[in-house]
Amino acid sequence: MDNLIRGITKDGSARIIVTDSTLAVNKAVEIHTTAPTATAALGRVLTAASMMGSLLGEKDDLLTLRFKGDGEAGSIMASADYLGNVRGYIQNPAADPPKRPDGKLNVAAAVGRGNLYVMRDAAGLPEPYVGALEIQSGEIAEDIAAYYAQSEQVPTVCALGVRVGKDYRALSAGGVLLQLLPFADPEVIDKIEENLKTIPPISTLVEEHGLEYIAGLYLKGIEFDIFDSMTCSYRCACSRKKTDGALLATGVDEIKDMIAEGGTELKCQFCGKAYKYTADELKALLDRAGGES
Ligand SMILES: [Zn+2]
Repeated sequence: MDNLIRGITKDGSARIIVTDSTLAVNKAVEIHTTAPTATAALGRVLTAASMMGSLLGEKDDLLTLRFKGDGEAGSIMASADYLGNVRGYIQNPAADPPKRPDGKLNVAAAVGRGNLYVMRDAAGLPEPYVGALEIQSGEIAEDIAAYYAQSEQVPTVCALGVRVGKDYRALSAGGVLLQLLPFADPEVIDKIEENLKTIPPISTLVEEHGLEYIAGLYLKGIEFDIFDSMTCSYRCACSRKKTDGALLATGVDEIKDMIAEGGTELKCQFCGKAYKYTADELKALLDRAGGES
């Protein structure tokens, strides 16, 4: 299981979330067999969604983050629950553009230009909330910070990192989301800005230190409490019942075609699980839904 902590400064000026998402990212690598740059891109989106999801209020709330850029990775999406459990998908898992001049994986090139969407499905809301923003850099962390600043007027620092090993697996992955709360003390803001100048990359930090220590680097010189520490993982919420619904949504004629072909198989895009339907099962599904078979 991965870990995620949440804290707040004692004076209520800022809140911080820190996560080690190494296991979730490696689960994604296993499911989607991603190339290194695709691993970094999807890993960052998964890590961000997990932290953003942990800010949801209720058990059935869902946060979905989607980067729809024109880079070779295509669409990248991840959705998370309020405990930070997350699942994700990348349209082109083979995306692996040439490295940047500094030798780093070129996530921005894989993502490209386009839009970023944040969707919140909350139990209390009649319609899901959807926020959109033009992709700023494609490096993901800067885009998340820009999203919060522009769409939600919350000044935010976001760090995301995935270190990919020679075997294409993630050696480490993690993230930080630091947000100023209304009426933040300017002195606290100054200290945070000062601290940011000396902080090493988050993928290095999670490899060497505990999450609370990392929070302490961002909030050096500021008193804070960690009020939540939770475990989270890559978790898919798919089920046969949901697949039944997806099949019915394709329409009676489509299902009749599938019956004529002797059955069908649907594969979950998030976890790769295959749901097989024989012709008889499809007929029963139509009967239950009140259609003619
Ligand atoms: Zn699934």
